[in-house]
Amino acid sequence: MIQPDRLARTFTDLVRIDSVSRHEADIMAHLETALEKLGATVVFDDAGKKIGGESGNLVAKIPGTLPAPPLLVCAHVDTVEPGRGIEPVFENGTFRSKGDTILGSDDKSAVAVILETLASLAGNREPHGPLEIVLTVAEEIGLLGAKNLDYSMLSARMGFVLDASDPDAIITRAPSANRMTYLVRGKSAHAGSSPEKGINAIAVAAKAIASLALGRIDFETTANIGVIDGGSATNIVPDRVTVNAEARSHDEAKLADVTARITGAFRAAVAETNMALPPGLGEASVEVTVDSDYFSMNIPDGHPLVRCAAAAGTSLGRTVATKMTGGGSDANVFFKMGIPTAIMGTGMTDVHTVRESVSLDHMVKGAELLRAVILTFSRGF
Ligand SMILES: [Zn+2]
Repeated sequence: MIQPDRLARTFTDLVRIDSVSRHEADIMAHLETALEKLGATVVFDDAGKKIGGESGNLVAKIPGTLPAPPLLVCAHVDTVEPGRGIEPVFENGTFRSKGDTILGSDDKSAVAVILETLASLAGNREPHGPLEIVLTVAEEIGLLGAKNLDYSMLSARMGFVLDASDPDAIITRAPSANRMTYLVRGKSAHAGSSPEKGINAIAVAAKAIASLALGRIDFETTANIGVIDGGSATNIVPDRVTVNAEARSHDEAKLADVTARITGAFRAAVAETNMALPPGLGEASVEVTVDSDYFSMNIPDGHPLVRCAAAAGTSLGRTVATKMTGGGSDANVFFKMGIPTAIMGTGMTDVHTVRESVSLDHMVKGAELLRAVILTFSRGF
């Protein structure tokens, strides 16, 4: 069975090993040993080289004792900053950091849950089908590990990614996202002696931003202006400003629409500004970059993954709901690669902040569900 004490020790060990994105060599060495002890064959791909990181993705294969199709189980090992020298504090059943770093439960609670689940299966000599454990690097900086994973190493056609909060739900829908950069150019001039010779790039960008609807656009679409960078001194009319924005939607057409609206606002502000300028002064302009950040996923309710998770929940006397998320994860990339993966939760909360926490009970619930999912998938349902 799942052993809470062993799970807590595993989690503590993992968060004490620094692994901010692209610096995953130490934790991967630790995990390679741990997985081999659990009977896995461990290999790494060359994603680390492709993305300038210390390590590739880890793929661990555990042969099955039941003739079932292989099941993919994935988590990421990298963390955001401040994520160095993490000292976990365990109080009232909950892990937190000392307060000056993140905790790293995103996503080491998932890695610990996977290790505990495998240990429990091995300890009980529980018959199960073949497993393919994928531990990715550089998830937090744009899903780079999953995007550069060597998919020829996998034979699983579906699976589960552990990278969410609620241990009683699986996430089956996630949005597409675009990242946009608007570089607005104006013309510099002395702000005191000759402001009329300048074109204020910040004022142009501000006009565009003020005209926009941002935040929650509708139930499945969001937009945000996140970073503004421009100008050099109060006595200079700024000649350039860069604005970074993003948009997300579960609906591709809506994503295209909201992205076009934001871009349109910048173009309109530039056009309006230029119409009001005296001849011979030059003109404002905007350079637009739109990058597709990740792609949506949508696993229908009748899919085997959903039925498997529901049956696993029932075997534990629990109800497993399906949910949608506003975020992206490795699951979006797997979905695009033709390997649908539903996202399971391990209790992590307030991730990417120094207030991050995870309760041991929730991790145990996550491990119990993962264990039941593996057994259900292996035996057929
Ligand atoms: Zn994560």
